[in-house]
Amino acid sequence: MPKAMPFLFSILLGATGACQAAMPAVPREQPALHALARAPSEAELRATITRLVGFGTRHTLSDTKSDSRGIGAARRWVKSRFEAISRACGGCIEVVTPSRMFTGKRIPAPTEVMDVVAIKRGKSDPGRVIVMSGHLDSRVTDIMNSRSDAPGADDDASGVAALIEAARLLSKQDNDATLVFAALSGEEQGLYGGKVLADYAVAQGWQVEADLNNDIIGNSRGQNGVLDSTTVRVFSEGTKSNETAAQANYRRYHGGEVDSPSRNLARYMATLADGYLPDLRVRMIYRTDRFGRGGDQVEFLQAGFPAVRVTEAREDYTHQHQDLRIGNTDKDRGVAYGDTIAGIDFRYLARVTALDTLTMAALSRAPAPPSGVALAGAVTTDTTVTWHKVPGAVGYRVHWRDTTAPQWQYERAVGDVGRAVLRDVVIDDWFFGVSSVSADGYESPVVFPGFAGSFERSPASSVGAHPVRDHGPQRRRFSPTGWAPTKSGHSSVRP
Ligand SMILES: [Zn+2]
Repeated sequence: MPKAMPFLFSILLGATGACQAAMPAVPREQPALHALARAPSEAELRATITRLVGFGTRHTLSDTKSDSRGIGAARRWVKSRFEAISRACGGCIEVVTPSRMFTGKRIPAPTEVMDVVAIKRGKSDPGRVIVMSGHLDSRVTDIMNSRSDAPGADDDASGVAALIEAARLLSKQDNDATLVFAALSGEEQGLYGGKVLADYAVAQGWQVEADLNNDIIGNSRGQNGVLDSTTVRVFSEGTKSNETAAQANYRRYHGGEVDSPSRNLARYMATLADGYLPDLRVRMIYRTDRFGRGGDQVEFLQAGFPAVRVTEAREDYTHQHQDLRIGNTDKDRGVAYGDTIAGIDFRYLARVTALDTLTMAALSRAPAPPSGVALAGAVTTDTTVTWHKVPGAVGYRVHWRDTTAPQWQYERAVGDVGRAVLRDVVIDDWFFGVSSVSADGYESPVVFPGFAGSFERSPASSVGAHPVRDHGPQRRRFSPTGWAPTKSGHSSVRP
């Protein structure tokens, strides 16, 4: 061996070592997320829904004193479940019950709307909060009927069962950001429980990075007979609910119609499903909610927080908001109306629960999404992306995609910096974003530049933020001049 070789070898080794040390952080496949993907228990989900259906009705205006029937008994049972989960993890969860008195079009006398909320504080970043929500209340055909049996197995005991199961699974693991599991009330009367929780989050100073609102997630057979147990819909708004006219003008000119933080949260969930859930696909829907209908995520959006709605791929409207009965007209003879547990596909519900659970785990272990993301590069052939670094990140990734592509297509790890130049990537031709990466390889959602894409809470605009306070949006119809309330009354199919 020539004398110089050992020296040369050591130089090469040194160079390799230095190169590795400087390698930018990249997301890694996470065995912990693979384990969570398989963890949700069909037996647990079935036990919860069975118990909730057993309260007869959980209508917001129903009995609150009985221990066996009505919304009060259901709330106390959910509270006891959270407390049992907390005992099993050495008190890792605290349970709060924010509430407020409301009257409104669907609440004729002052009624307390109470949410039951489990909080698992984050270890290193407790002010950053990931919420999973579902609603406890149920209804039948007449929205004011608080006495008839309203099992609400799919709408929305399925969502509450999923969030209790997610709390049980995640209680056994560390989380950097705070996790919140919220069983809301008053949804059917007009999204009151969502309002109570969104206001509570603001009052507590929570930086809500995501609300995953799960409403109607347990049925896999559509009313038309089509079966789909391998797809879940994630609805997200395209532009922020509370952007100002100036912000809207800027966004209209420069882009951002399809890049609200809620939309990039939906993309994040779709990516996680692709990586960890081989038998569940996220179908992103570019809408805030189903056409003409609403859900509690709307209250989070209006408070300036990112939020999505998770809903089964195929709905059966004969199960939703219906008196329990068998059809006896020429059109529906023999149809079993009502939202009973017979309509739940527990294997499907477990897959959707897995999506929520691993999304919460991934978000809470990743650093906060970068803030202050901005672009420069007009009339040059390079694009410059800048951002503010965030605590807990050891690196960042710049992402870009065709302006017509639904998902991010290209990415580049750029190290622990606040600025990157993409050579020969022309600013005009792509949409850009930035994510942060933790030391153990967890990645945040991608942040689109400017107000349009920022995950930071945007101030609620005081005018027009709550146009119809005492109606659920599901009771509004779209007219050429905008959303208008319909007359209240019976609806056979519109939940
Ligand atoms: Zn619902």
